[in-house]
Amino acid sequence: MIVTRFAPSPTGYLHIGGLRTALYSYLWARRNNGEFRLRIEDTDTQRNNEAAMDAILKAFDWVGLNYDGVVEYQSKRLDIYKKYINQLLDEGKAYNCYMSKEELDALRETQIANKQTPKYDETWRPEDGKVLPPIPEGVEPVVRIKSPNDGVITFIDGVKSIMNFNYSEVDDFVIARSNGMPTYNFVVTVDDALMGMTDVIRGDDHLTNTSKQIVIYEALGFNIPKFFHVPMINNPQGKKLSKRDGALDVMDYKEKGYLPEALLNFLVRLGWSNGDQEIFSKDEMLELFNTENINKSASSYNEEKLLWLNSHYIKNVSNERLAKELEYFDCHLAGHDKKEMILDLSKERAQTLLELKDAIEKILNPPSEYEAKGSKKFVKEDTPKILKYYLNTLEDSKENLHLACDYEIVTKPFIEEFELKFTQLFQPIRIALTGGTQAPSVYDIMAILGFDEVKTRINRALEVNFNKE
Ligand code: GLU
Repeated sequence: MIVTRFAPSPTGYLHIGGLRTALYSYLWARRNNGEFRLRIEDTDTQRNNEAAMDAILKAFDWVGLNYDGVVEYQSKRLDIYKKYINQLLDEGKAYNCYMSKEELDALRETQIANKQTPKYDETWRPEDGKVLPPIPEGVEPVVRIKSPNDGVITFIDGVKSIMNFNYSEVDDFVIARSNGMPTYNFVVTVDDALMGMTDVIRGDDHLTNTSKQIVIYEALGFNIPKFFHVPMINNPQGKKLSKRDGALDVMDYKEKGYLPEALLNFLVRLGWSNGDQEIFSKDEMLELFNTENINKSASSYNEEKLLWLNSHYIKNVSNERLAKELEYFDCHLAGHDKKEMILDLSKERAQTLLELKDAIEKILNPPSEYEAKGSKKFVKEDTPKILKYYLNTLEDSKENLHLACDYEIVTKPFIEEFELKFTQLFQPIRIALTGGTQAPSVYDIMAILGFDEVKTRINRALEVNFNKE
């Protein structure tokens, strides 16, 4: 059975790069009827915070990634890590190192001055026949792993193919600090092994950790999982993605009016492909996702594409769902008898839920001001007269005006009779009803508002905006 995990460190919000890793791990496990686990890597007590932990769980909830079993917290597993550290010490595969920070700094400086790669010099590494320095008093040791000095670490990365690291590049790194706390690479390895991970999917910024982790797997005699190192998401200029390039916190996307479907679709394509298909429902992702088609090179963040996907989903999810999503933005349509018409009309042009809300409010709320440029261009001397006649014409058929087509049936002959151009009538009406000239179909808006409200808005515009005298 395939078991994957997402293992965020709760030091900040959940980054979209992190969500992509989570998504791939989730899809790969689900597609193979395996398990997807969530583990919070919270051993760095200085940098962790509760809010970040909540943010991760909230983001998971928002996008609907469900995990198996309980959430594991590394901070609750310290005894387990200690046990394995002691085991390595007992077996002579790890050792205490009493080198002080000052000594380490001095060593580093000398190595840099001699143009060597800084590396621990194995002063405290026990070897047959080697005499170790006397243990200094009052110094709590760190524990270092005895990493092999010769040979090559080879593993097949599911994305990058064969990877080779020389053992000599991995020094005897610290696995437990002087306060007894295990280090990051150690706990990741122990947990991945004990939680039965078969496939570890993560960003390729972890590649150098992988060589260290393999040293730990080998020392503990654990099975090494398959690794998939996914290339980074860059900005459109090919540089590291930063806050300036768009939102990075997953929950910011919610605030900006993105649907989770759009974000997941965006992320699945940002680093993976299935021919030239762009739209993937969650079911399709689950059916089609595979690790072979993860891109080998970095991908480029493209906000236009995200907007395009978002407008696609806004048009395609149910109106019921849209109405529910809009509640979050304090836009309430529940119980409105024209809910369907309002949404059908407004969603056509909206790229985000905020734009959708805006479009809806433009229809539902009487304009608080009228666009000056449009008014200047389209309101002519005869506009008041035309509008008054038009209102009278509508009023005569008032009982029959329900749908957009009812308004059309009355309006067409009116336009013909007075030999009007469409813009002569429709642009002033748009301005009167919504304040601007960009609104969608006038017939639709009138049908939504109903004759009485249309009359009120046109009369008000005649009074305050169209009065040329
Ligand atoms: N906790 C690590 C991070 O947030 C991920 C560890 C892993 O995936 O192996 O970057």
